Amino acid sequence: MVEKSVYEEKAGMSIKELRDKALEHLWLYVHDYSEFAEEDGFKILVEADGIRVKDITGRTYIDNISGLWLVNVGHGRKEIADAVHEQLLHIHYASSYDHTTIPTIKLAAKLAEITPGSLSKVFFCSGGAEAVEMAMKIARQYHIQNGSPHRFKVIGRKGSYHGATWGAQSISGSAIQRPWLFEPLVPMARHVDPIYCYRCPWDLEYPSCKIQCVKEFEKTIQFENPDTVSAVLTEPVSLSGGNIVPVDEYWPMLREICDKYGVLLIADEVITGFGRTGKMFACEHWGIEPDIMTVAKGLSSGYQPVAAAIVKKEIADKFTGSARDALAHGVTFGGHAAACIAALTNIEIMERENLVENAAQMGKYLLGQLETLREHPIVGDVRGIGLLCALELVKDKKTKELFSSEDGIDKKLTKKLNENGLLYKAWPQNIFLAPPLIVTKGDIDEMVGVVDKSIGAVEKEMGIL
Ligand code: PLP
Repeated sequence: MVEKSVYEEKAGMSIKELRDKALEHLWLYVHDYSEFAEEDGFKILVEADGIRVKDITGRTYIDNISGLWLVNVGHGRKEIADAVHEQLLHIHYASSYDHTTIPTIKLAAKLAEITPGSLSKVFFCSGGAEAVEMAMKIARQYHIQNGSPHRFKVIGRKGSYHGATWGAQSISGSAIQRPWLFEPLVPMARHVDPIYCYRCPWDLEYPSCKIQCVKEFEKTIQFENPDTVSAVLTEPVSLSGGNIVPVDEYWPMLREICDKYGVLLIADEVITGFGRTGKMFACEHWGIEPDIMTVAKGLSSGYQPVAAAIVKKEIADKFTGSARDALAHGVTFGGHAAACIAALTNIEIMERENLVENAAQMGKYLLGQLETLREHPIVGDVRGIGLLCALELVKDKKTKELFSSEDGIDKKLTKKLNENGLLYKAWPQNIFLAPPLIVTKGDIDEMVGVVDKSIGAVEKEMGIL
């Protein structure tokens, strides 16, 4: 008889029973059910510590994308668990419609302190998409109350991702979301082509391109009629676009364009915030201050679901005077006491352990090590800033031809990466590397070694070498 593991004992079910129940009842995201039914289609994770996680079979893996670009302080932080526990025993909930709690106030004040410039009014919610919805609604109502009632359009970027709710999806430009399935989308959304120097949409080269990708915003604002444009909404570094880091001129130019036309600039720092790029917020790399910033993920390192839209004082001031001026938006879980204490403790850890600085230093090292992988025939490009890095995979380096779905490069690579000790999947076009900000040089050597070995094995299997 096979002995039950402690996890099976605790669950009161065998691994097989747990897997069967999951396949029957659990709707995991995005992938087809049959993929999950494959032998290693999903893992049941049971423990985690630092940058490593363990599955129910006892295998450990490096968490190469920090859960989902969010476990910034690393796994297993007892300090956060204790703070949440204690808060739950005092008071776990107060409705932000009428009241609040001490950690909620302290977190709002902390966010006002650490975000750039006059970003200082914090509207809490539970996830990134909700924060994006709120930011767009705040922009819309601001313009109504600021004498521009016809400004409702929001300009986003193709290739970007801002969440899965209808509004957030409408402004996203991600083909992975298959937006056509949900048409008609929310009609305020417009899109421009992305920053993507490796595959410039205009076939131009930096710097002679004169940053055409940012000029597209101005052209679009003019075409749409500036009096109808409410906001530009973009990620400082476009993760879902392929981990695209903008050239230095991009953000300052975008800020200037928005100011010129009275359009609000919303920076979606859901992934880039809280040290991920080697600064507390990615906007700081380019010295710009957005009008609204959306944050989630790294705000609590995922220890509790919490997100926020952080708004400039000058804008927030337009929402007071009478009941009609108040923001017409609220959510049940916004400002949840346990979520806010988790976020506060998370930020305290980041500051005490200088994790933003570590992300900057280790990020440079990681990018340097990844550069050595350019020798592989299928590595077309290497990009990154801080601990937000990626490889772009190509079938042909000269033509930059992408692999087709029949090639199954993502499945082949994922299998090898998992076998060699990395947890997260390769995508058809990218391998992403974004470990927790506590990562060391030794960990990075191990991760890059795994990627190198796995790519080599797949190249051999496909007869590319
Ligand atoms: N914005 C960005 C830049 C994101 O990457 C994501 C999610 O990955 C979101 C918003 C949506 O966040 P959530 O999944 O918490 O709704």
